[in-house]
Amino acid sequence: MNAITPSKPAPASNTSPPDPEQKREIISYEPATGAVLWRGAVSNIDAAVKTARRAFPAWAAQPLSTRMELVRRFANEVRKEAEKLAETIARETGKPLWEANAEVEQVINKVESSISAFADRTSQRKLDSAIQGTMAVRHKPHGVMAVLGPYNFPAHLPNSHIVPALIAGNTVVFKPSEKAPATGELLARCFNRAGISAAVVQFVVGGPDEGQQLVAHDGVNGVLFTGSANTGIAINRKLSTRPDKLVTLEMGGNNPIVMWDTPKITDAAALVVQSAFASAGQRCTAARRLIIKESMYDAVITEIKTLADRIIFGAPFDEPAPFMGPMIDNYAADGLTESFLYLLSNGGKAIKHLVRPDDSLPFLSPAIIDMTAMQDRPDVELFGPILQVVKVNDLDEAISEANNTRFGLAASMVGGTPQEYNRFWANVRAGIVNWNRPTIGPSHTAPIGGIGLSGNHRP
Ligand code: NAD
Repeated sequence: MNAITPSKPAPASNTSPPDPEQKREIISYEPATGAVLWRGAVSNIDAAVKTARRAFPAWAAQPLSTRMELVRRFANEVRKEAEKLAETIARETGKPLWEANAEVEQVINKVESSISAFADRTSQRKLDSAIQGTMAVRHKPHGVMAVLGPYNFPAHLPNSHIVPALIAGNTVVFKPSEKAPATGELLARCFNRAGISAAVVQFVVGGPDEGQQLVAHDGVNGVLFTGSANTGIAINRKLSTRPDKLVTLEMGGNNPIVMWDTPKITDAAALVVQSAFASAGQRCTAARRLIIKESMYDAVITEIKTLADRIIFGAPFDEPAPFMGPMIDNYAADGLTESFLYLLSNGGKAIKHLVRPDDSLPFLSPAIIDMTAMQDRPDVELFGPILQVVKVNDLDEAISEANNTRFGLAASMVGGTPQEYNRFWANVRAGIVNWNRPTIGPSHTAPIGGIGLSGNHRP
């Protein structure tokens, strides 16, 4: 779903050695250099789930105030480890250090917002009962939650599942992405140091196979997943005969940003560049498609290209600090390069070419391609710095083009009148809808979730 051309087997550098005699290992590499960052044997998933089950009754029996106090202590542990955690995120994902620091802040802030969200959503209510007395609506935890994380925000996103699950009284088996286990391990240690035992939040090592085992395990009561639509669909399919399991799917997008009338050309262009190229396009909410009113095209595209030409991409600790880093691995960079060539050879007109300065490393430049002439544009999430442009004539056409996708995560409109924005808001199909804001950077105090292939209505 994140490349147009058929997928190839992953290069050796991304897989553990297939030695049947030895316990399989997961190896994490630094994308910017190819150096090994971390390695560890895959975990015994069955044993981990059984441990979490045994720990559940005692954790659930803790007073809510104790669980809240413990997650606040966790936030303090993250503060103490902030520098190391940010450095590990930067090394493991390749994102610039300033961005890794921002991710650590998000981890810390999520604790207080989860505490208030819990109070908002689960407050006890006393109601009149039919036979004159009163009754109460109260909430109980589910049991053991499996948390499956993606690689792009390897601390913040799993954490956003773990903290609310713990506050509610569930125990957690946390499997980070096989591309970011070092970050996952550090995060889990912060929970444990805060006094939340390694049985209550367990860190397990593994790839898709271990993910599948975890999802299917009888001892797991819920699956809290953030990742690609392909994986989300596989999880949904696997659990089609298990209506008892809670399933939260937060998946990708093919997000539109619609450009309408505005005199502020530079500001508008900056919103587009931020939306498309922050994190090198490796954000679920990144703008993949710029849908632009014909009369705005020349001025805005010239400005976007000027800004994109100035973007510095480089390694996480470079000076001056880069705006964006590399793709997560060579496999991802290969897929995006092939996808860009596919678009080019099927009617796309390059406004700014995708450049890979060194074939042995996954750095890619920002790229912009006009796709107006292509009839059946592929509806896939190109998870990298490629912005597709489509020219339209009126707002109905713009909205219909924005909705021309099976995904529905984020959508933004830049410019236009309040009435035009209201029409956009009412008719665009997306979970997050913004005006004169980038598609990225949703507020973490609001629920975030998508529709269509982007999520299953459980933000
Ligand atoms: P991914 O789907 O490849 O992997 C996510 C997790 O699922 C990993 O831990 C992986 O080991 C596990 N997994 C893989 N196959 C599995 C299976 N069959 N059963 C169970 N578990 C399995 O995702 P990724 O490439 O790490 O992350 C990038 C994707 O995540 C993008 O599509 C992006 O849009 C999406 N994402 C969504 C959000 C959101 O909030 N909606 C946020 C960030 C990223």
